[in-house]
Order: sequence, then C-alpha cells, then structure tokens
Amino acid sequence: MLCVECGKREAKYDNLCEICFLKKIKFTYLPPHMSITQCPHCGAIKFKGDWKRMSREDMFRELILRNVEFLHHYDSFTLEIEERESRGGAALHTIFKVRYKDLEVKEEHFSTVSIKYESCTRCNRYFGNYFEAILQLRGMREGEEEMVKEFAYSRIEHYSQKNENLFLTKEERRKEGIDLYLSDKREAKKIAKEICEKYGATLKESPQIAGRKDGHDVYRVTYSVRLPEYREGDVVNIDETPYLVEHVSRNMISLLSLKDGRKKRMDVRRHRVGRVVKKEDLEEAIVVYSQGANIQLLDKNYRIIEAKTPFFHHNGDKVKIVRIEGEVFILP
Ligand SMILES: [Zn+2]
Ligand SMILES: [Zn+2]
Repeated sequence: MLCVECGKREAKYDNLCEICFLKKIKFTYLPPHMSITQCPHCGAIKFKGDWKRMSREDMFRELILRNVEFLHHYDSFTLEIEERESRGGAALHTIFKVRYKDLEVKEEHFSTVSIKYESCTRCNRYFGNYFEAILQLRGMREGEEEMVKEFAYSRIEHYSQKNENLFLTKEERRKEGIDLYLSDKREAKKIAKEICEKYGATLKESPQIAGRKDGHDVYRVTYSVRLPEYREGDVVNIDETPYLVEHVSRNMISLLSLKDGRKKRMDVRRHRVGRVVKKEDLEEAIVVYSQGANIQLLDKNYRIIEAKTPFFHHNGDKVKIVRIEGEVFILP
C-alpha cells in the first residue's frame, strides 16, 4: 500500500510513509509555561496537595511528567532535561526521545517555570509550635535524667528520619521530671514504649480533646513513662524476701534471693515490690569469720554482726550488707 498523503512511498505508519508521518505527527506537547509551588523553609514541592522533598532535577522531571500530553501512542520514551539560566524562576530545555515501531523521534520543548512560595504543612506545624503528644519522663533518680532524655532524643531522631512530620516542639523541665512535646502522637507512643522496654518503666496514656477538625475531635495524648522504684544493683523486698535486682526489662525483673541464693524471674505486675534499698545506700562490712552458712562481720561502727548467707566469702572480704527488720543479709 502506498502513502495516502504523497502516494509515492510505502505506507508504514498509520497509512503514511515515514516522511509524511514525521511531518504530520507530533508525539508530545509540553506547555511553554509551567508553575510549581515550593516551601521557602525546607524546599518541599507541592504536587496536587501533597508535599514532597526531592532534588531539583527530580522536581523538574516530575513537573514535566505531570504536564506532558501525549498526542499519539508510542512504545516507549526517554527524557532529558537541561536547566538554563533564568531570572526568577527556571527555564527548561526538554528532549523526548520517543520510540514508535522502528522509529526513534526526537522532540524538543522550551518552557519556563515560575516558582510560587508557600509554607508546607510540616513547616507550618514546626513554626507554629504544633504538638499532638506530651511524653512525660518520670521517676528518674538524680543523675539519670540526661541518660533517659538522651535515649528519648535518639529515638525521636530515628523516627523523624522516616517521618518528616515528627519533631520535638519543646522541652520542659519540671520538678517531677521532663516533658517532651512531640508533633506526632503515633510516633510518640512508639518512643514511649521503647523507653518502657529499656528501663522497665510503666506507661500511662491519657487522651484529651484538643479541638475539632473537619468534623472530628482532635486528640492530644499524654504518655507518662514512669521508671520503676528499683534499679539493677538495688535490693528489693518481695513477699518478705530480700532480693538483689540483677536485671530489669519491661515487666520482668531477674532477682537473686539473699536468703537462699536462688535466682528468680518475676513479673512485677503480679508481685508487689516492697521496700527498696538503693545500691548506693547499701552498707559495707568486713568478713571476720565464715564457716558454711554462718558468717561474722565487722560493720562500719566496728560492731560484730552474726548472719547467715548462701554465698561464700573469704575472711577479710569487703561485702555489701542490707539490714531488714533487724536481720542482716549479705550480697554475693
Ligand atoms: Zn508520504
Ligand atoms: Zn517546609
């Protein structure tokens, strides 16, 4: 069949020969003028209401792909973009290489891009001191605040790398502990749980209605993380037995009985943890005599104490002791 246009050459494409086809058909249309909305603070780009952070190259690529109109079907195409100097906005030289059957057609476009500035959702929140959750850190002993706070900070940092809407709005130091105001309550909860896990703390969650948005109540949540009374190395009294706390994680504590030397793991939700003697408050004494379970010690006031212990000590050893209701127990 011959070309319907010139009647001279073979019709290979849409009843046209190659020359007439290329003369007549355009594959792409790109508007000569395009505009883009960018956040002046962080550089995010708004596409159809969604903010995206991307490189300048990717930004133009996406802009072109969103604006191009394909006027004829094709098999595939590649895209080259060159940015040219321009006052105010940007000027682009765009080349489409379109494959159609055995043809490769190169089409060029020149467009200008004007940039409108608008603060993005995240930056609005950030500069507006927005917060959805208060993470309260409670029950810390003297000298522990920085450590717990540093851990919380490192988790905020971790989650904010995946979720740009997460940030710390403010930090308040109170008599009872530290309050961290966070912009995202879902992430705040994850962080609260991780702190609980690490320090064996308990979590209390209390939501408050903060207002209404689009016909729904907006909640703010307070996550109160309370560290337990005991720490590793402390002596606790549970069911009238003194134990050395060997390890704390979540709701479980690993204990060593000072009565019989047996190890135990306990779920603190099911046991009442009684009096706690902090490790720094444990008394020191010196072993003067030991035979089997019987031991004699010299306390700091040079008084002789008689006690029983499941742990072996040499004469002259310095040991830690704890007095509970007149009875003396010795740490291993
Ligand atoms: Zn022709
Ligand atoms: Zn922004």
